Amino acid sequence: MEKLTDVDAAVLEIEDGEVWDAVAAFDSAVRLERQARALGDDLLVQRARLCRVTMLMRTGDPVVAVRNIWGVHRWADQHRETRLQARVQMVWSALHYVLGDAAKSLECALRSVELLDETATSYMRVWHRLKLADALAGLGSMEAARVRYAHAEEQCHRYDRPDLLLWVLNNHAYMEFANGDLERAERLADRLREAAAELKPAQLDTIGQIEIGNGRFARAERTLLLCLERCGDGREEEGHSLAGYLLTLARARRGLGAYDRAQSSLDESRALCDRRDLGHVLVQVHEEQAELYAARGEHAAAFASFKEFHRAYVSRYTADQESQARTRQALFETAEAREEARRDPLTGLRNRRFVDERLPALIDGDPSLTVALVDVDHFKRINDELSHDVGDQVLVTLSQLLVDGVASSVPDGFAARLGGEEFLLVLPRTPLPDALSLVDRIRETVSAHPWEMPFPVTISAGLASVESAPTRTQAAVVAVADRNLYAAKRSGRNRVMCETLQPTA
Ligand code: GH3
Ligand code: MG
Ligand code: MG
Repeated sequence: MEKLTDVDAAVLEIEDGEVWDAVAAFDSAVRLERQARALGDDLLVQRARLCRVTMLMRTGDPVVAVRNIWGVHRWADQHRETRLQARVQMVWSALHYVLGDAAKSLECALRSVELLDETATSYMRVWHRLKLADALAGLGSMEAARVRYAHAEEQCHRYDRPDLLLWVLNNHAYMEFANGDLERAERLADRLREAAAELKPAQLDTIGQIEIGNGRFARAERTLLLCLERCGDGREEEGHSLAGYLLTLARARRGLGAYDRAQSSLDESRALCDRRDLGHVLVQVHEEQAELYAARGEHAAAFASFKEFHRAYVSRYTADQESQARTRQALFETAEAREEARRDPLTGLRNRRFVDERLPALIDGDPSLTVALVDVDHFKRINDELSHDVGDQVLVTLSQLLVDGVASSVPDGFAARLGGEEFLLVLPRTPLPDALSLVDRIRETVSAHPWEMPFPVTISAGLASVESAPTRTQAAVVAVADRNLYAAKRSGRNRVMCETLQPTA
């Protein structure tokens, strides 16, 4: 059997490491999840699962990612594992970005930073701030983005992560460039150059693009040649990026007027796109080809290439739209299934699962929360003397009375059916005396309802406030309510009891 510390370290390496090969990382995550399960460590299982989801996103399978992320999300919320919650938000942010919803993506990035606490790793402290900055920059809010890039830099220094500083400078430089501030982009590119002797190919590509933007074509060509050299043996694995680097090189060479050299790197890029089915890069290759013909004064060929570019662009756009629609559908279906799973099918009320997920946090954050356990009196008699169907109908009608009663004075409260003819009313920010009079009003409404039944339909209830429970846990609060419900039954039914106040009716 694997050692816990080994599995933990291997998961952390995927979580916080630079993963280049998403397919291999996916396979490891699957294996690690199995090992974590064998070790009985639930948190580790969920962490490995989230790694799996992250890799699915990267290998272009967002539909499956969507179906898996909810489970981890729920588990993290339920166990209030802030570190995992923060990582979940990072994945949501990427997912919404893929779906073209920049605002939602930003919202999740923001949340992923807010969730950073003392349990966060140094990688997260930098990376989540960096992604937040990128999201702001992507929306064109450069002022706000710069503040976040600066935060990310601070964290690099504080936690001694020069490796991550390179990515902060890289992304910041690229975003300044993409938003048209070439001067700032160049200053950042210079800082990036000075920050390390050995830059990554992607970082050199960023610098090269900025140099092209500033008209320094000879320098850009040297930068890109170095970039390609650094790709070294990893060339095939980095097919996607490599095709992009070759394209940047072609642009630099066109700027230099070295058209033959430009054509040869463009041809290389195109071959790579064909071999590896890199549709997105291929669109840009067609565009660059048109530019190259135009620069040579070959206008007929330029026009033909431009048409090819346009056709590829449109078909790519359609394919992207279709894939987004599939992901959105999966998102909708899983959200709906989630909602379904948290409702009782007979009455439409929240169910026990919902209560178990929601109540602990409510109890934790609200000292004046009160709950009421409600049980129908002599319900068995309705079933036995009338029918099970009539019993069901009583439950449905009663549920509506409970919902209306709660909504009348506690709009953010809710009623749940725990099972059988037992219900729980959850009343946030409602001290015990107020809860008592509200629940007693509901009790009266039920007994006064025109049931058209040969015998009365009444309820009994037991209350518990968070303060009246010995500990601030769901189990303790519900146990107090249960004791009071039992007391209400024993002292004659059709009444509401709470430990500290006088019984009613
Ligand atoms: P008490 O006043 O002590 O609560 O008496 P009671 O008869 O209500 O209590 P008991 O727990 O003995 O009976 C509950 C009954 O509720 C038993 C079960 O058959 C019935 N029941 C549970 N779920 C359903 C349901 O979904 N529909 C119907 N019609 N009956 C149900
Ligand atoms: Mg009952
Ligand atoms: Mg009962």
